[in-house]
Amino acid sequence: MSELAIFGGEKAVKTEDEEIFKWPIVTREIEEKVLKVLREGKMSGTDVTEEFEKEFANRHGMKYGLACNNGTAAIHCALFGLKIGKGDEVICPSITYWASALPLYSLGASVVFADIDPQTLCIDPKDIERRITDRTKAIMVVHYCGYPADMDSILRIASKHNLKVIEDCSHAHGGLYKGRLVGTFGDVSAFSLMSGKSFAIGEGGILITNDREIYERAIIFGHYERHSKEITIDYLKRGAGLPWGGYKYRMHQLSSAVGLVQIKKYKKEMEEIDRAMNYFWDLLEGLPGIRAHRPAKNSGCTMGGWYSALGLYVSEELEGLSITRFCEALRAEGVPTIPGCNRALHLHPLFNEIDVYNDGKPTRIRNAKADIRQPKGSLPVSEGIQEKVFRIPWFKRFKPEIIKQYAFAFEKVVKNYKELLKEDKGNPEDFGSWGLSFRT
Ligand SMILES: *Cc1c(COP(=O)(O)O)cnc(C)c1O
Repeated sequence: MSELAIFGGEKAVKTEDEEIFKWPIVTREIEEKVLKVLREGKMSGTDVTEEFEKEFANRHGMKYGLACNNGTAAIHCALFGLKIGKGDEVICPSITYWASALPLYSLGASVVFADIDPQTLCIDPKDIERRITDRTKAIMVVHYCGYPADMDSILRIASKHNLKVIEDCSHAHGGLYKGRLVGTFGDVSAFSLMSGKSFAIGEGGILITNDREIYERAIIFGHYERHSKEITIDYLKRGAGLPWGGYKYRMHQLSSAVGLVQIKKYKKEMEEIDRAMNYFWDLLEGLPGIRAHRPAKNSGCTMGGWYSALGLYVSEELEGLSITRFCEALRAEGVPTIPGCNRALHLHPLFNEIDVYNDGKPTRIRNAKADIRQPKGSLPVSEGIQEKVFRIPWFKRFKPEIIKQYAFAFEKVVKNYKELLKEDKGNPEDFGSWGLSFRT
């Protein structure tokens, strides 16, 4: 009989321990802080939120923090802060969550997608320059699934072409690029803080910046309740009192309360995750067919909280075994995994055909005042990436005995890959998903 569980062998993962995956970790202190806000009836206030903003900005060594009711709203405010408006183009990787790009539409702006680097899965700096036009205003950077993007190259390009940089740090809270925190490189940075992310406080988001005008513009856009206290710049003051965007983006203070505790304990929790995830990959070092999605150890770059951790798949080293079959065998061993990641945005009809605002033209084209559509074939790495990445278990605790069982499952499947070739039906035409949430 085969060793592989998919053919009736014994499962590699024998533990029933679910605690190793449980997230977020809700402590008594969080419960008490939340209850206090509830009991005092301060759910819609801003005092707890402002305290959280200060702490969060301070941790990053940044001057201003503005909390929002989710990460999408924080990105929207940040883009308005940068004065992105009618006819502007922002260059964004095609492999990311939709919120990195779609808030541009309602600003009258448009998105041009750049390809990703197949190792880092972040925007490929070499592809950015090719995409720059006289309408380009900014580069949207995403530190994808925790991997810090190549900021040196991106900042060089931005400064050469006089472009703004915005960092979407929703996957990489606390991650370092060459020893410096992600979120501190761009003109402004935005973070999702929703419960599935590694810095998890419930629905919520935050932007940070050192630029007073960006900060005030973000407030004028969607935080009318703070205008009288915060708006000092003349041209903004004239229109204060009502939100210019027509949006209300205030953070719920139950989330801010969680955030205040989370900010104290996150570093320690993140370090434990980092230790567990690196331990897992170290056990698998050198195995054919798979590679870690993590920066080199002496690079000063880290993966933060390893949000939605991925592995890279090299099918050629396993005689072309499909990633679909590979993941099936792993699931039989007890490993929570699926192939793929976020789908390539540039291929979705919303970026090609859909006329959101009844302008008689697809919104992306109308906003850019040029046909900037990017058909199939234009971003080859992004289009092929689904077959090259798979989810790995996202360990929140350092429990070597349990992690070893998961690593053993990978070892077993790789060593016995020949048996899997027989019934390999290949990959489906389309996989990956528009969001990354995934439960086993
Ligand atoms: C989650 C996420 C967002 C949006 O954040 P929400 O809090 O869900 O609105 C934006 N960008 C990326 C890359 C994300 O993963």
